[in-house]
Formats: sequence, C-alpha cells, structure tokens
Amino acid sequence: MKALVYQGPGQFSWTDVPRPELQDPRDAVVRVDAVTICGTDLHILGGDVPEVTAGRILGHEAVGTVVEVGPAVTGVSVGSRVLVSCISACGRCPYCRIGSYGQCLGGGGWILGHLIDGTQAEYVRVPFADMSLHLVPDSVSDVDALMLADIVPTAYEVGVLNGHVKPGDVVAVVGTGPVGLAAITTAQFFSPAHIVAIDIATSRLQAAKTFGADVTVLSSDKPEAVVAGLTDGLGADVVIEAVGVPESFELCTRLVRAGGHVANVGVHGSPVPLHLETLWIKNVTLTTGLVDTTSTPTLLGMLRTGQLDVSQFVTHQFPLSNMEEAYDVFSRAGETGALKVVLTRAGASADA
Ligand SMILES: [Zn+2]
Ligand SMILES: [Zn+2]
Repeated sequence: MKALVYQGPGQFSWTDVPRPELQDPRDAVVRVDAVTICGTDLHILGGDVPEVTAGRILGHEAVGTVVEVGPAVTGVSVGSRVLVSCISACGRCPYCRIGSYGQCLGGGGWILGHLIDGTQAEYVRVPFADMSLHLVPDSVSDVDALMLADIVPTAYEVGVLNGHVKPGDVVAVVGTGPVGLAAITTAQFFSPAHIVAIDIATSRLQAAKTFGADVTVLSSDKPEAVVAGLTDGLGADVVIEAVGVPESFELCTRLVRAGGHVANVGVHGSPVPLHLETLWIKNVTLTTGLVDTTSTPTLLGMLRTGQLDVSQFVTHQFPLSNMEEAYDVFSRAGETGALKVVLTRAGASADA
C-alpha cells in the first residue's frame, strides 16, 4: 500500500510500505476513506517532535472502514464505518478509568503518527479498537466526521470546557487557525455575549467572522482596549489561547478579567513567561491540556442532529494519492488560505 512516510526532518514521501496487520487481539485494521493533515504533522516534519523516528507513517485523524478485527474486539466489525480518533485508549489504566484518555499509561494516548504508524496511508492499524474507534452515524459524511478526529474535540474540551464558557460571557480567542475557529464554533453552544477573535492576519479574522466571532481585532490593534470596551473595563471572562507562542499566551493573561479563565490549547515549543507578579491578586484560573476525546460521542451526535456544522473547515480536497501536494498546500496556509486539507479515497486508485 501507499503511505506518507517521515524520513527525518524536512523529508517525507508518499511511498510503498507493507499493509498493516493485526498485532494484538484488541486491534483493528481500517481502510482509510478520508484523512487530513494537522499542524502537529508540520511540527514533526520540522524536527520538533524527536520521538517520531524515521520510517514512521504520519497522521492521527481519519475516517474509514474496518477491514479486519482481532478476536477481542466486540464494538466494531468488518464493514463498520468508523472515526479514527487522534487519541487511543487502553480503557484499563488509572487515567483511562477516569476518562483521561489523553494520558493513557497502557499504550494509548496520542500514539498514531507519533509512536506507531498513523493514518496518512491506505490502511492503518488501530490499537484498542473498542475504545479508540467511534462508529459514524449513517447520516454524517466522512469529511464532516473527520473534523471530530482532533480539532473540534481539542478546541471544545481544552478550550471551551476547560475555560468554563457560560451564557453571557465575553470570550476572547487568540489565534484563529483551525483550532481557534473550532473554539469559536463550539463556544457558541453556551450562548456567550461576545466572541472576540484576535489574530495577526486579516484574512484569518475574516474567517473568524464567518465561524461566528462578532468582534475581530488584529493583535497589533490593541485587543486589550477592545475587550475592555466590551466589558466595562473588566476584561474577558474566558480567554482561549490557540497559537502556542509566548507572545500569544502573555496577551491572554492581559485580556482576562479578575476571576476569569485562561485556557491554553496551543502547543508550546519554548518557555513562556508567567507574570505572577500581576496575576497573583486576580483569582485567575489557568488550564492546559491534551484532548481526552471524551466529548467525541456527544459531538458526533450533534453533527447528526445538525446542532454542529463543520462544513466550513474544509478548504481543499484531494485524492489520497496527492498527499505530497496536499502537504504543500497546507504548509503554505498563509498564501493558500488552507484551513483543513482533506484527502479522500474516492478519486484515488481503485485497488482494494
Ligand atoms: Zn492534530
Ligand atoms: Zn489507558
């Protein structure tokens, strides 16, 4: 089969590899019908994630069809249409027993396209299939379900839920890439009074408006003053960080009101100053996190009922065999306007 194989920093190719086989009774093998590329994959290609070794198939998001199951798998069967989540879960370790699947100690967590071969391939082996796969409702399309593999539950759990967004809140979202836009989308479940989108790029702020932000401001245009103007000078009730650089995190701590929440979603690669000399007196709650995907069943249900619309995330679609071109378009998002780039089996070579 073909797969996107990482060959060291800056090097990858769509190339022939052996088709994956069951290795454990709890495994399933899934034929990939739709797959996408994450900003994290670009970090890996940049050499920022040294645990990923040369020869690894990348990708941690997919929708597909189960083609093989181990004898211990009971929740899915051959032919099941499934969402392959970015988080796998053993279901038995102390963290899994409290729903913290992202912290799984039993061989799960974020492993696909990281510690084991991932989803940017014609087939993928998924460990702990009963816990790691989600059945996709018939009425939900592959491409819509695919948005629930990572970005939507990540933004919802780590941003909106950790930030305790409540009705009437003023929510500021710093960074309006795909995850920031997903935070804007899911914050609306709670009827906030205002959603303020903040970014360095005007084009991204335009996208934020179409996703539901009612106020947009460039980070160079005094967002503190804009938020103060909306809140009688108090500051935002919830600030969601969706960039992952020191400047954006520090901005969040200046935007939050006393007693408010700063929910960090961004993936940080370097140390960030924490200004406790100004924050200590403000009763501020700071949260961090890796997604657990405990919200995924709820979000799939909301796709089915039409309460969640993710159709705007997908800006580019390619056949699976155009993986290298898709990487190129996604990595130049500033020029191409790419949000989520989706590759589907339809239109790919017809070998089964
Ligand atoms: Zn991801
Ligand atoms: Zn576990």
